[in-house]
Amino acid sequence: MILGNDPILLTPGPLSTSPETRQAMLRDWGSWDAAFNQMTQTVCTDLVEIVHGENDYVCVPMQGSGTFAVEAAIGTLVPRNGCVLVPNNGAYCTRIIKILQRMGIAYVELALREDEPVSAAAIEDAFNGDTRITHVAQVHLETSAGLLNPLDDIAALCQRHGKSLIVDAMSSFGALPIDLRKGGIDALVSASGKCLEGVPGMGFVIVRRSVLLASEGQSPSLALDLHDQYTYMQKTTQWRFTPPTHVVAALRNALDRFIAEGGQPARGARYQQNCKTLVDAMKTLGFEPFLPAEVQAPVIVTFHAPKDPAWRFADFYAAVRDAGYVLYPGKLTQVETFRVGCIGAIDANELHNAVAAIDRSLKKLGVRVR
Ligand SMILES: *Cc1c(COP(=O)(O)O)cnc(C)c1O
Repeated sequence: MILGNDPILLTPGPLSTSPETRQAMLRDWGSWDAAFNQMTQTVCTDLVEIVHGENDYVCVPMQGSGTFAVEAAIGTLVPRNGCVLVPNNGAYCTRIIKILQRMGIAYVELALREDEPVSAAAIEDAFNGDTRITHVAQVHLETSAGLLNPLDDIAALCQRHGKSLIVDAMSSFGALPIDLRKGGIDALVSASGKCLEGVPGMGFVIVRRSVLLASEGQSPSLALDLHDQYTYMQKTTQWRFTPPTHVVAALRNALDRFIAEGGQPARGARYQQNCKTLVDAMKTLGFEPFLPAEVQAPVIVTFHAPKDPAWRFADFYAAVRDAGYVLYPGKLTQVETFRVGCIGAIDANELHNAVAAIDRSLKKLGVRVR
């Protein structure tokens, strides 16, 4: 995959997109343009199909980054008198709690370590311990550490207990299997600029139609009201407010490429290969991943920072950036780490070259890994 001379982003969104996807943004679209609105429609149809939601689910696109769509989903779908269980193993779970606090919605936090996936048993205990709980807000892949939570088990449990499950699938959608036909999930949130390899600027919520239609008037926000956005689009074919036209055009192209690649199984396999190449090569330099392999998702890998007193992330970042690769700081509260993403329009070869650049940069900076 040829990306030209631009640096390769090893960050989990924004990420490196293909030249074709970037080229798809080279024209302007009007918001009344029927071809543009039809394009939005095909994007939504494809997004629902990726997770097998064909008959019962609709896709509501939302302007903004992923958090806007998460906030829209929670605000629209949780009634004011609801109570949301939030299993918390990282920064994106904490962000959901902040959203709930701002909205004044009751919540119960299930606190976990940043390397500890939630178990269905722990969620069941929480249900039994607090009968107020009506909803669960679950982050599928906690991007803070790269941790995978067992979504299928959680969905089956929520279905059995009659709890409404809202999933932040931001960094898993398209890369990991999610099948809405199995039941238990009411809403799934993701965005254009993660594993679908579009550019950032549009989130979307795939939501059970009956749940969405029952949510009229519930959102405390005008701009983030999913019900309004959906009904307006149904009525007019247009976005309710100014659409992110170029982002939609890029996502259309990115979805075409996603389908041509072989859909989720192929995308997931490429990322798995990227991740394995990255981890194996980093281990030969002496780096240790923060997470045990069983809970490591093939999207972003957290590594322990070297103990050498000469280590400074900012210097390391700049040196690796000069060599053509953009890394990501750690996002953990307890330990000094940094992160390397394995998603985007890149293959194992780029990861291999990135680790070679990391090796050269450390030598230049005089930092010893072990
Ligand atoms: C990226 C991401 C989000 C959204 O973050 P934005 O900065 O708003 O795009 C939310 N949840 C998870 C798990 C993410 O990886």
